[in-house]
Amino acid sequence: MQNLVILGSTGSIGTSTLDVVARHPDKFNIVALTANRQADLLLRQCIQFKPRYAVLLDDAATVQLRQWVREAGLSTEVLSGAEALEQVSILPEVDAVMAAIVGAAGLRPTLAAAHAGKKILLANKETLVMAGNVFMDAVRASGSVLLPIDSEHNAIFQALPRGYDGDLAGNGVRRILLTASGGPFRNTPLSELQNVTPEQACAHPNWVMGRKISVDSASMMNKGLEVIEAHWLFNAGADDIQVVVHPQSVIHSLVEYVDGSVLAQLGNPDMRTPIAYGLAWPERIDAGVAPLDLFKVATMSFTAPDFERFPCLALAYQALRAAGTAPAILNAANEVAVAAFLDKQISFLSIPRVIEAVLDALSVNAVGNLDDVLGADDEARRAAQQKIRQT
Ligand code: NAD
Ligand code: MG
Repeated sequence: MQNLVILGSTGSIGTSTLDVVARHPDKFNIVALTANRQADLLLRQCIQFKPRYAVLLDDAATVQLRQWVREAGLSTEVLSGAEALEQVSILPEVDAVMAAIVGAAGLRPTLAAAHAGKKILLANKETLVMAGNVFMDAVRASGSVLLPIDSEHNAIFQALPRGYDGDLAGNGVRRILLTASGGPFRNTPLSELQNVTPEQACAHPNWVMGRKISVDSASMMNKGLEVIEAHWLFNAGADDIQVVVHPQSVIHSLVEYVDGSVLAQLGNPDMRTPIAYGLAWPERIDAGVAPLDLFKVATMSFTAPDFERFPCLALAYQALRAAGTAPAILNAANEVAVAAFLDKQISFLSIPRVIEAVLDALSVNAVGNLDDVLGADDEARRAAQQKIRQT
């Protein structure tokens, strides 16, 4: 029996995780569920999974959930605030933490789980983009098992040798091939991109996801963040990672070896596959995912990424090469710009403009500790807000 904490249980990854967990009541026990402010869904999850703790960020939602939990006769203790996210993640009885909060808010509790030596199922890629070296140092120091849940990184993890030690060349790896669907605007005429709406940006052709990552997919910043994520997870340089546009989203990524072999992981685009892999690793369990029908897929295509159509991807490579606080600056400016786009304050094409302006305006420093990261994050958020006010 594995004792789990699900950070971000009401989101897209969180609900998919609980879907897999519910298929295996003999294998998993939920210790804590957490969310931002969605008290009604969190209550339904508490009724079904009977966690010891439920955590909400929002005070009013916490008061509401406490009352409902009492009325439902549950023994779940309802906690509130960002510190409680860290507290539940490091409880002695917890074996594994699913890190599925969206954005920078996921950093502290995920890092706390790493310091505490918990097994980490990492969906929150922003943790690695912002604080890659701090987080990986914590993982190494505590001996945490780190399992990538992002589908591409999960595929790469599966295609690398078991027990991969971070030495690409030493393992005969030539390159990592990171696949990308190209998102909803892969073929949209450039002249129309100026006026696309948040609804259009969130209508992903192959995946159903939260709104922030959906916009990131439309701008291909998601792939940029994933290049940085792959850098930290697999100790790969910017030149070792090739993005490959593959609109069918059937091959989730590939590893190319020096002998000419290319190993890939395939499957239907359903996050329950990488989630089940992470939950059961090194074993495999049923994820509720339909078998891949290759005859229905019939054809698969591959093209090089278009850096002019998707300047966010170029900015991410640039930030990775600049190193230090540059990826944290990129991430913070992106979060602010995406929120402003979803709020209809700026156009879709302004997202990369805001990020580029912030990267140009701020100096990049070395990252020695978490404070260096949080300082850069804060500074970049303020610079992005200012740029948006001028837009
Ligand atoms: P989502 O928006 O659907 O869910 C986010 C969850 O985090 C919710 O439970 C929400 O209540 C919680 N949350 C939001 N803000 C918070 C805050 N300030 N403090 C605490 N909790 C907060 O997002 P998602 O699509 O499930 O994505 C979650 C993470 O997983 C992201 O980092 C994303 O990049 C990554 N990811 C998602 C997918 C996918 O298919 N959805 C795939 C790969 C990686
Ligand atoms: Mg992904």
